[in-house]
Amino acid sequence: MTAVPSPGAVWHRFGPGNRGAMRAAFTLSVAPGRVVTTAVHAGHDLRPDIAGRIALDEATRLREEDPFTDLLVADHGTGLVVHRSRFEVDLNRPREQAIYLEPDDAWGLDVWERPLPENVVQESLAIYDGFYELLALTLDRFVASEPFLVLDLHSYNHRRAGPDAPPEPAADNPEINVGTGALDRDRWGHVIDGFIEQLRHKEVLGSPLDVGENIRFRGGELSRWVAARYPDQGCVLAVEFKKTFMDEWTGIPDHRHLGALRGALDDAVRGTLANSFATEPV
Ligand SMILES: [Zn+2]
Repeated sequence: MTAVPSPGAVWHRFGPGNRGAMRAAFTLSVAPGRVVTTAVHAGHDLRPDIAGRIALDEATRLREEDPFTDLLVADHGTGLVVHRSRFEVDLNRPREQAIYLEPDDAWGLDVWERPLPENVVQESLAIYDGFYELLALTLDRFVASEPFLVLDLHSYNHRRAGPDAPPEPAADNPEINVGTGALDRDRWGHVIDGFIEQLRHKEVLGSPLDVGENIRFRGGELSRWVAARYPDQGCVLAVEFKKTFMDEWTGIPDHRHLGALRGALDDAVRGTLANSFATEPV
């Protein structure tokens, strides 16, 4: 693939045509502006040769995925949403760790009923390579001009002790954790601080948002990849939402809460662009 994605284009990669009736592995929706939002752990789909080997039930798998983060991808720019489960390929880990082979790779879980054959691993890695190829094409178009912002959306559990046990302490588990560990703060500190300040001024369901930087997470491979490839032009923020917008044990979402978070994020991004980026409106 050599074409540069242009506004209005919607790309579906690894989709119907080579995988029967299955939907694509991911969808890129290109929009004007200099913001790209990714939801790389939103997916729950498994292709048949993975589904036939996995030992985990749906609920266990869903608990470690980031369901509904695709619904937080607002319309302030380009969106790249992954539909495949991280248990098929984890796009936020280095390539050599992107397939969970041992329990230590996946929260101690025994993921597979039988070991994955090499050709199955290679097919998953082809999705990994395809994703980063598409992300590169998407971001390369910005390089000659202005800086750009990447928001990598995730969610995290805070009730690992069980549905009836107290949640983990709020002090170490902010409502939103902004991971900035990959960034050069001298270059991007004003954008990071501006974004966090914007978010903290948003009210969600009657309370101001509790936002922390690098408290629980510092950002994963996608952040490192963007920061390494575009050190002067790409500001990448890994935005982790605590799963207070859903019940992490039943998987049931609160759509009102989700909608409020999406609105707050959208406002914060627009405010950040207006204050901390160039003057061009988005
Ligand atoms: Zn995640």
